Parts: sequence; C-alpha cells; structure tokens
Amino acid sequence: MIDSKKVIKEAGLDPNKALGQNFLIDESALSGICELACPGGQNVLEIGPGIGALTDRLAESAKLVLAVEIDGNMVELLSKTLAAHNNVRIVHSDFLRMKNSAILDGFGGAAFTVAANLPYYITSEAAMKLIDSDLPINRMVLMMQKEAAEHFIAAPRAKCYTPVSVISQRYYTVSQCMKLSPASYYPEPAVDSAVLLFERNGCAYDRDFSRVVKTAFSMRRKTLRNNLSKIVPKDTVPAILEGALLSPSARAEELSPEDFSRLAECVKRLSSAE
Ligand code: SAM
Repeated sequence: MIDSKKVIKEAGLDPNKALGQNFLIDESALSGICELACPGGQNVLEIGPGIGALTDRLAESAKLVLAVEIDGNMVELLSKTLAAHNNVRIVHSDFLRMKNSAILDGFGGAAFTVAANLPYYITSEAAMKLIDSDLPINRMVLMMQKEAAEHFIAAPRAKCYTPVSVISQRYYTVSQCMKLSPASYYPEPAVDSAVLLFERNGCAYDRDFSRVVKTAFSMRRKTLRNNLSKIVPKDTVPAILEGALLSPSARAEELSPEDFSRLAECVKRLSSAE
C-alpha cells in the first residue's frame, strides 16, 4: 500500500493546489473504487494517478492500467512507487488535450473501464470528454466534488438537471456509491466528495445527440420551440415536436433522456439541419 502523505513529504514536494492535488488516503474508499472499476482482468484508464495509491491497487487486478498524469513531479515519483508492476503505462500528458484515438490505441482498440479521483477543476470537462464519445467504455468509477456529482444523477425538473445529466444518462445508468468527507484526503479539500458509478446501458453513441440537448437548454426559460429554431428551419419545428410526442410549450428541463432521444431522432429525420 502506498502512503501518499509520506511519499510526497519524503520527496520534499508540496501538493499542487492548482492541479487539484488532494490525495485519497482512505483505505476503504481506495479498495471500493478498485473493486467497482476492476473486479479482475480489465483494461483501466486512470486520470490523474498522482502518487499512485489507486493505480497500485488497480494494477493488482487489471490487465493493463493506462494512467494519464499532467504533473512531471508525480510522473517521476510514479516510476518509483509503481516499479513493481509491469502492467502499468504512465502517460505524461494533460488528459483534456489527449486525443481519444491515443487512449484507444493505448488499449490496442479494446474496451476499457475508467477509474479516477478527478481533480476538481476539470471534473465536468474530463467526464464529458469520455461520456460524449464513441470510446468503448464499459463502466466508470469517478470521484468528484459532491455538488458536481449532483449534476450527473439529477432527474428532470431538478435545479441541477442540465445537458450533463441528459447526456450521461442517455449512455449510462448513473448511481452514487460513496460519500466522502474532507478527512479522506491529504491535504483536506474544503468540500465533500462523492463517487459515482457509470454503467454502460447499451445505447449506441450518436454524435448529434449532444448538439440537440445543448441547444434545447441554451436558454433555460425558453420553450423547446424557441430554442430548437436555432439549429433547424423554423417551419420544421412543429413537425419535429409532434413526431417526438412533445408539447410545443415544453421546456428542456422537463424532458427525460428518452424524450431527448426521440427529439434528436426527429431532428435528424425531419429537418435539413447540417
Ligand atoms: N489518484 C490520486 C489519488 O487518488 O490520490 C490523485 C488524485 S488528485 C485529486 C488529481 C490528480 O490529477 C493529481 O495527481 C493531478 O496532478 C492530476 N491532474 C490534474 N489535472 C490533470 C490533467 N489535466 N490531466 C491529467 N492529470 C491531471
């Protein structure tokens, strides 16, 4: 087991706040994430391995762990803390700038799972880069700030029901499986955290779906009729809404992910949107 606090102190380093370096030191949370993401033999993508406390556990049961870390100091430490594993590949890179094709190549085109204690400052962007993609991901176990987690699991009409909720729930069954207090980290963050489990639900990826969802939410208080006319000819909107069995006065926040699936299908079929 890797003691993150001890390793970073012995290396004479300070956790980098700007990079969201709050290391998970809660043993049961580390094992819980590992069991969910990698029950045995999976390819695992880890975003932000840090000192390698989670990576070390994942490597015990994974086929291959591809760990993407932005901080050169951490990459240097990882070469020591993970030296015992020959199934870990450390990639020194900004995950947000990494091409999805490079991730896929890392696993030789095979399916993979994702495990991450996400840095707070990139949570939504990093998660959506994976969710709104055609990457062959089976499941993801993502730790994030509690307030960010609420967006991924929100139901229609909730205050935090946003495009993030709809797009995630179209492709994944999302559930919260852990809650963590600041005491689970070194150094302690000022916020509570949650771990979400994303299980792929079999719905095929549609690259046009998120454009329809984001447009429908673009002006939250406006009706679908108003918002949709930004991406389809205005005169096609009534037929699109009727085809999707939706009221012209409906607002995006009232629609379920299934409603949005019908809407996106009708936008494709009934409009000449480019
Ligand atoms: N996985 C470790 C753990 O659980 O203790 C560290 C988690 S810490 C919250 C987030 C890690 O992500 C840090 O090591 C940080 O340097 C790294 N990181 C921050 N931004 C990143 C980015 N854009 N791409 C890749 N890694 C990043």
